[in-house]
Amino acid sequence: MSAGRYAPSPSGDLHFGNLRTALLAWLFARKTSREFIMRIEDVDSQRSSAESAARQLDDLASLGLDWDGQPVVQSSRHEAYQAALSQLETYECFCSRRDILEASGAAHVLPGCYPGTCRELTAQERELRRQQFAEQGRVPAVRLRSDVEEFEVVDYYNGRYVGPVDDFVLRRGDWAYNLAVVVDDAAGGIDQVVRGDDLLSSAPRQAYLASLLGYAVPEYVHVPLVVNAEGKRLAKRDGAVTLRQMLEQGLTVGDVVEQLAGSIGVPGARTAAEILERFDPQLLPRDAYVWT
Ligand code: GLU
Repeated sequence: MSAGRYAPSPSGDLHFGNLRTALLAWLFARKTSREFIMRIEDVDSQRSSAESAARQLDDLASLGLDWDGQPVVQSSRHEAYQAALSQLETYECFCSRRDILEASGAAHVLPGCYPGTCRELTAQERELRRQQFAEQGRVPAVRLRSDVEEFEVVDYYNGRYVGPVDDFVLRRGDWAYNLAVVVDDAAGGIDQVVRGDDLLSSAPRQAYLASLLGYAVPEYVHVPLVVNAEGKRLAKRDGAVTLRQMLEQGLTVGDVVEQLAGSIGVPGARTAAEILERFDPQLLPRDAYVWT
């Protein structure tokens, strides 16, 4: 099977930027005769809700997007993540965010990368910290013992991209995003990953993890984001940015689809089916789309 996917985190309504990325993921999959899988990325149990997931799916369907099979729900995939974790070289990490921030100031540490503090703890040191954590009712994080410092991926729009790979977290109470994504993409036969280009820097870690687990690395298509007038990633506070808000303001679904279409190089199209007919990946503007 060959499939693409859209994988929203159910922590609020999708905004125009999310809807645009969803549309692009659907277009890439359908244009290449792939299946299209919907995945609810609710590993962050604090921020996710089933109600929000249902609203997101309703919004996507009302724009005319369709998907194959039932959505995959990450909170029901514990066994699959556990099985993958058990195949990997890992270690427990007892660092707080503050510890990491302080240690990250060292000259040899790349920004955003784990400095390796807990990697070489002795068995005795580890045991001591485990006990301290247990007394405080805390659970250590689990990190990948990575044996590379960087990894290369190939992206449809961005070409060859090399990015750092550190001992990233696989589990911290909840399952970590990077592990869940890689396991679910492989399990779903997903060989095309279309998503916002804010995640391009995560692709090397995910591709490396896929290769460790013996999975094929998918084709990556990182698409430009929608930004506000200040050039920052669009957010809810930027105004009436969700489908429901736009409808409340008097727009029709067709109007919203037309704005989405215009933003991806298909001006005037008012249904998803028409966009699918006319969409050409080469026409997608390569700059961020400015929301006005
Ligand atoms: N759940 C992520 C998000 O909503 C997307 C993950 C992905 O596409 O790999 O930003």
